[in-house]
Amino acid sequence: MIKITTSNLNDLAYVHYDFLCKKFDFSIEKRLKISLSKYQKEILPIYKKYYLLLQYIDKNLEEIIIGTPLTLEKHRIRLTKLSEDFELTKQEKKKTKEQKEILKDLNYIFNYETFASKGFRKKATKKHEDYFYSGNVLVGKINIQVCPYCNRNTIYSFKSGTKRTSELDHFYPQKKYPFFALSFYNLIPSCKVCNKIKLDNDDKEYINPYDTRFDFNKNMKFGLQIENSSFYYSENGFKFKYKFDAKISTDENQRIENNLNIFELKDLYDNHKDIILELIQKAEIYNESYIDELMQKYEGTLFKNREDLLRLVTCGYVSDEDLHKRPLSKLIKDISEELNLI
Ligand SMILES: [Zn+2]
Repeated sequence: MIKITTSNLNDLAYVHYDFLCKKFDFSIEKRLKISLSKYQKEILPIYKKYYLLLQYIDKNLEEIIIGTPLTLEKHRIRLTKLSEDFELTKQEKKKTKEQKEILKDLNYIFNYETFASKGFRKKATKKHEDYFYSGNVLVGKINIQVCPYCNRNTIYSFKSGTKRTSELDHFYPQKKYPFFALSFYNLIPSCKVCNKIKLDNDDKEYINPYDTRFDFNKNMKFGLQIENSSFYYSENGFKFKYKFDAKISTDENQRIENNLNIFELKDLYDNHKDIILELIQKAEIYNESYIDELMQKYEGTLFKNREDLLRLVTCGYVSDEDLHKRPLSKLIKDISEELNLI
């Protein structure tokens, strides 16, 4: 579990808004206006309620599309209340005709299916160049190489621009919150496994990898618990510890635990004890004097600097900003710190 620390996220969010709400003929704004004028005239109580929901969305559209995780949390409460009569998560065959129509209309306004598959395109004219925007383009711009939920599986957008090995997880499930289907900070580039595991589960509060309120890279660290003297050569000699910072808020602590549980990360990481064993062994071999010796010998020829050498030794990245570049980087960094290897 790592943070998404792409430096220009705010700019990317505005580009996202501009494309989806302004640039295309079939924009969210236009589709919303069509629905507003249609449901304004309806007299059935459920449609009157739907009109109120549409008005709320219209009034808060920019925040719904590019609001931060905290802003989305606030709108979620209000939107859940406004949409409760539509029973959005109820089985399709059990829904009333009106409920089906409302869900269809919401999916039409927030057209995630097109965004995620073929994308939106506007042909070039004298006034502008060719516009194209899709889920694939978005994932490419966010530019992370490993799933932020598990930090185990790599994600990649192919150069052709049409295929990718990642999925876009809806932090707030699309089924229950169709109005967040295209919200920038609700779209988490993730691996297929994590996306599938999480799916429609939102009973608990989780950590959104974009959320700047929480410093979970630092507040939860992997640690080692030595069990017996075989720890230098055997995986049975130690266990994993999940260490929480003493000053962490109860809310953040609980959210991290919820993430660990839903993605079954403790079980998955137990599978990587071989890497930890190697780090224990490397910490013995690459002690400070040996690292100094290697620096003297190879700095400027084999390695640019100390960080470069430590990456070679640990096979991970040393700085928090680089954790998205290689699988298991956080695990390797935390354990290497504990072993004084870095
Ligand atoms: Zn994952």
